[in-house]
Amino acid sequence: MNGTTGIQDGYGLYINGQWRPASGGATLESCNPATAERLATIADATKADVDEAAAAARAAFETWSRTPVADRSEALLDIADLVEANLDHLAAVESSDNGKPIRETSGADVPLSVDHFRYFAGCMRADEGSATMTDASTLSIILREPLGVIGQIVPWNFPLLMAAWKLAPALVAGNTVVFKPSSATSLSVLELARLIDGAGILPPGVLNVITGSGGHSGEYLKAADVDKLAFTGSTEVGRGIGLAAAEKIIPATLELGGKSASIFFDDADPDVAVNGVQMGILFNQGQVCSAGSRIFVQASALDRFMEAFSAAFTAVRVGDPLDPRTQMGAQVDERQLTRILDYVEIGKAEGAEVAVGGSRYTQGPLAKGAFMQPTLILGRNDMRIAREEIFGPVGVVIPFEDEDDVVAMANDSDYGLGGGVFTASLDRALRVATRVRTGRIWVNQYNVFPAGAPFGGYKDSGIGRETHKMVLDAYQQTKNILINIGSGPVGLPYGA
Ligand code: NAD
Repeated sequence: MNGTTGIQDGYGLYINGQWRPASGGATLESCNPATAERLATIADATKADVDEAAAAARAAFETWSRTPVADRSEALLDIADLVEANLDHLAAVESSDNGKPIRETSGADVPLSVDHFRYFAGCMRADEGSATMTDASTLSIILREPLGVIGQIVPWNFPLLMAAWKLAPALVAGNTVVFKPSSATSLSVLELARLIDGAGILPPGVLNVITGSGGHSGEYLKAADVDKLAFTGSTEVGRGIGLAAAEKIIPATLELGGKSASIFFDDADPDVAVNGVQMGILFNQGQVCSAGSRIFVQASALDRFMEAFSAAFTAVRVGDPLDPRTQMGAQVDERQLTRILDYVEIGKAEGAEVAVGGSRYTQGPLAKGAFMQPTLILGRNDMRIAREEIFGPVGVVIPFEDEDDVVAMANDSDYGLGGGVFTASLDRALRVATRVRTGRIWVNQYNVFPAGAPFGGYKDSGIGRETHKMVLDAYQQTKNILINIGSGPVGLPYGA
């Protein structure tokens, strides 16, 4: 047991309400990216383990799908209370495993997870289905039924929150789940499963958690006997998930990458703009699918904004993720940090100019962890650093002249997930917001994720929406029952 955070030395797989090692005996290490220290071992599931989890989920579906909606909803409320009661613990686990600052895990990841469980508990109670008369003698009943066993795969950037986004609607709609977190950050989800198991909230097999590498356990889950795949992660892996679902003729929802445009007009409130650019690209060390990674600044205000943004980036407190004063923590691992540094070099080679940051920390306590400086690079929209997802605290600043100019550049991207408009003019904000082809656009704020607001991507950023009651449609089948309530036969006559 890790003394400061209550993390166990090792975690098994959670299948059919039981904890057990992977059948092949293999384990992977989970490390603290701020210190490079080993935190725990996790099990590396085999194909047999994943198939067993899917079979357990299928067996549990029989009962869970018939459990009254009120009881399923109550289970979500119990999970929400449990997560809330363990907020400090889960925040510390997440910050240790992922490197994100505790002020984010305790102020965003964990409380937002609580709220998503509560939100979906409420939505499901309000989802009464519908009935209509299609003609004088035909009653049409539209019933919604759970899909069955759902395979869910999430990335490492918001492990617990992504679990809440996916588990809450799937479970409350009556499905059972085989859930796979990223091998880099499995601990918070394993702790969640441990808490749920300890409290006896869900019957065995309703929630199964399998861990391991994407290339192994992820591939096995993709191929397993499931009725839907729900994936959040990179566009590259997501495409493979979509293809696997197409082969099986099962639905897939895909929440994928982004290269979002954050647009600053010259009349933007300076304090709001500074906060917006920081939330856009420094929140979660820039490892956010909707990160405002392309920072479009109106040329007439470029010098003024660059001065303010640069001062704000330089002043950010980068440090120990567990220190409540820390504003930016460590990248998820050395591999990710190397990728980010490589992109800085690619940008320089393309002629971009590093205005702030651009390096890792090489002195003092930060040198042993995966810490990256908050970075701004002056570049162009046709550079690779403006087209490919860097997934770090590296914003590419691109000047623009007017609305038409910036809308064209914002839309000149393979992605369409997030975006922001900063201006004092609401008319202008709405004109731009409606013209940018993206699933979410913030106005005078960035990277806030309330339950009840649909989130998801256009273009290569994905298919489907989450965090809104509409996702319940993606976790249910529609059945239509047509009833003749007239006094005689309906349809074309076949008599003599
Ligand atoms: P990733 O695609 O590498 O991995 C995501 C998950 O898929 C992990 O659990 C991984 O183990 C698993 N996986 C990897 N290879 C697999 C395979 N061949 N078959 C099945 N599963 C496999 O992504 P990542 O590096 O963990 O996360 C970063 C990415 O996630 C970024 O592209 C980011 O934009 C995206 N993301 C999107 C959203 C959204 O809502 N759109 C939210 C968060 C993150």
